[in-house]
Amino acid sequence: MIREIGGVAIQTTHRASCHCGRVWLELDLPRGIVRPGHCNCSICRRKGTLTGSVPLVGLRVIRDDDALKRYRFNNGAEEHYFCAHCGIHTHHHTACDPEHYSFNIGCLDGIDPFMLEADIEPNAGAGLCRGAG
Ligand SMILES: [Zn+2]
Repeated sequence: MIREIGGVAIQTTHRASCHCGRVWLELDLPRGIVRPGHCNCSICRRKGTLTGSVPLVGLRVIRDDDALKRYRFNNGAEEHYFCAHCGIHTHHHTACDPEHYSFNIGCLDGIDPFMLEADIEPNAGAGLCRGAG
């Protein structure tokens, strides 16, 4: 469980945003960052995103401006959300773990994921969409 990264506290309800600011999320993270890691599925290994896990009810889109788009693959079982303007991946949902979203730790306001990277074993964390091929 990770409650701060680089000296910045993870808030119980922490805001996240894409790069251009059109998409805002609100994440309930009462236990901090849970299951941080890299997934090695076909899309995550291309993105290289460091992700954490949050229950479905713990992630809310609070601003969208019609920017948030969904890319689906694997017969629609995998859903990856991104901003259509700046291209940043904010979160995804997989058939492997239908009760949770994985979210992009780099989108959390004030958080530098590279302060955490050194502590993460390759493929050790969320890895939630490994079955996606
Ligand atoms: Zn954006």
